[in-house]
Amino acid sequence: MLQRLLDVTADVQAVMVEPIPAGLRVQVAAGADWDALVREAVDRGLAGIECLSGIPGTVGATPVQNVGAYGQEIAETLVSIACLDRASLERRPFRADECGFAYRQSRFKREDRDRYIILEVTLRLRKQARPLLRYAELAEEVRRTAPIDALAPAAALGAVRNAVLALRRRKSMVLTVGDPNARSVGSFFLNPILGPGALEALRRRLGTMDGPVPTFPADGAGGVGGVVSPPPPVVPKTSYSSSEYPWVASARHRLEPKTRT
Ligand SMILES: Cc1cc2nc3c(=O)[nH]c(=O)nc-3n(C[C@H](O)[C@H](O)[C@H](O)COP(=O)(O)OP(=O)(O)OC[C@H]3O[C@@H](n4cnc5c(N)ncnc54)[C@H](O)[C@@H]3O)c2cc1C
Repeated sequence: MLQRLLDVTADVQAVMVEPIPAGLRVQVAAGADWDALVREAVDRGLAGIECLSGIPGTVGATPVQNVGAYGQEIAETLVSIACLDRASLERRPFRADECGFAYRQSRFKREDRDRYIILEVTLRLRKQARPLLRYAELAEEVRRTAPIDALAPAAALGAVRNAVLALRRRKSMVLTVGDPNARSVGSFFLNPILGPGALEALRRRLGTMDGPVPTFPADGAGGVGGVVSPPPPVVPKTSYSSSEYPWVASARHRLEPKTRT
C-alpha cells in the first residue's frame, strides 16, 4: 500500500513511497525538482541516483533522454512512468522495459517524441546499499575526499553526492552565482560508444596527446556493449568558439558552451 511521505521538502512534493524488499519504491510527480529529489534520497540513505546529483531540471524530464552522469543513469532505478497520451487524452503507463532506454535515448525522444506527457516517475531505491563507483574520475575524487570504504552505506552515499557536486562545480556544471562559465547553453555532445577495436584504434591515433583516453563500460540499461569513451581529447578547445556565434567554449569544460555575455 502506498503512503504519502509527509515530511518531504517543498521542492519535492507529491512523493508516494512503498516499502519493498531492500528498499523503497518512490513515486514522484513529474514537476518536482530533480536535484532536490536526489538530495532527499541521499539524506535518507537511499541508493540509486546519487551520481545524478546536480543535474538541472525536473523529475519528469529524466526518462526522456535517460539522464545519466558519472556512470549511473535513470534507467537503472526506474520502475515505471505514468503518461498522458496527447492523442487519446488517456493515461498510459510504461514499464521501464517498454521505454526503449539506451545511452541518452528513449522512445520519448525517438518514435514517440512529443506524443506523451510524463506525469509521474516511479523509482526503486535501495536501502543499506553501497554506492557504485564505476566512473574513474568520480572514484578518484571520492577516495581523495572521504574514507569511503570505512563509511556506513548511508554516509558513503553522502560522500559520493559531495564528490559529484565538487566535480561539477569545478567544471562550472552547476549554477553558481558569479561564475561566468556557469552561464551554460546546455551540452549537445554525446560520448561515442566504441567497440574494443575502435577504442584501440583511437588510442593509437591520439597517442599520449592530452593524457590517456578516459573510458568506462557501456553496460547501462540499453544493453549496449563496448565502452564509452568521453571525447574531450578529440574535441579541440576552440572548435566551436568562432566570434560569429553567440556562444563561446567554457574555460572549465570543453564540451559545455556558454553564452558570450
Ligand atoms: C549545466 C547543465 C548540465 C547538465 N548535465 C547533464 C548531465 O550530466 N546528464 C544529463 O543526462 N543531462 C544533463 N543536462 C541536461 C538536462 O539537465 C537534462 O536533460 C534535464 O533532464 C532537463 O530537464 P528539464 O526539466 O529542464 O527539461 P527540458 O530541457 O525542459 O526538456 C527536455 C526534453 O524533455 C521533454 N520533457 C520535459 N519534461 C517532460 C514531461 N514531463 N513529459 C514529457 N516530455 C518532457 C521536453 O519536451 C524536451 O524535449 C545538463 C544541462 C545543463 C544546462
